[in-house]
Amino acid sequence: MDKKRRDFLKIAGVSTLAGLGGTTVVDQLVSGTSPVQSRGAKEVDTGHGAAVHEPAAHENAQGHEAVEEVAKSGNRFGMVIDLRKFRENPALGDKVVEVCHATHNVPHFPDKKDVIKWTWLTEYENAFTEHSHKFKDSPTLDNEVLVMCNHCDNPPCVRACPTRATFKNKDGIVAMDYHRCIGCRFCMAACPYGMRSFNWRDPRAGLNMNEINRKFPTRMRGVVEKCNFCAERVGLGEQPACVEACGSSKAMIFGNLNDPESEIRKVLKANFTIQRKPSLGTHPSVFYIV
Ligand code: SF4
Ligand code: SF4
Ligand code: SF4
Repeated sequence: MDKKRRDFLKIAGVSTLAGLGGTTVVDQLVSGTSPVQSRGAKEVDTGHGAAVHEPAAHENAQGHEAVEEVAKSGNRFGMVIDLRKFRENPALGDKVVEVCHATHNVPHFPDKKDVIKWTWLTEYENAFTEHSHKFKDSPTLDNEVLVMCNHCDNPPCVRACPTRATFKNKDGIVAMDYHRCIGCRFCMAACPYGMRSFNWRDPRAGLNMNEINRKFPTRMRGVVEKCNFCAERVGLGEQPACVEACGSSKAMIFGNLNDPESEIRKVLKANFTIQRKPSLGTHPSVFYIV
């Protein structure tokens, strides 16, 4: 095991609890419930040689035990981001960020320390620390990379969360139940990609409340948030808002990684792709064509 991975596992060692989701994110957004800690958890093979805990029984939000089998759909949703298409259309990155943030009522605060981000553009060197060297070609170095939560198949943030406000849902999406978040920020320390934001301020102060998306909840001060792979849309059979914003360009392709006939699997088969920090063993579900 290399040093980088050992160091990471030490950080991820703050984690003590784990679990996979049961009800849909849409349900949870409406009801404020999510899978919660349980007794009798068992180890489940993720298919990558890494094991996660799966609850044998759930407790409800009041702490009462409810017998509920974890329903898995067999899906594992993922995303391919084709950076060549973003280079061809330099305005596309900003458009995607804007659409995502408008769809999810992500507040805008000018002060850097208050900033909340679900997706953003960053330098190649920041995005791909393991694929970086000083002799990289200029098209790569001169263009920014769209980053978002990787919806890791082996997510350290889920293991770190003591309340299961962060959980992996039945479709493999790493989702959040804002009502359960106690703001401890263990998940932020555990995420090796820095993909989570903390609401130091009331996020509603950074929104024009006349223009918010009323189909998606606003959050509150003291809560963590991040990209949710548009679980609320995917649950309704729609594509993520960012994918839709790319139109027919195919700059972003979303789909079921477990379906060999899906478009995303065909794209992955036909193109060389890379993931962010693959050596950490988190198994990101976001892939990049560079
Ligand atoms: S990218 Fe970070 S926040 Fe997203 S699932 Fe992976 S560890 Fe969790
Ligand atoms: S900040 Fe919220 S989501 Fe993150 S670990 Fe704490 S309770 Fe879980
Ligand atoms: S998948 Fe949805 S939440 Fe994630 S970056 Fe795209 S639009 Fe935002």
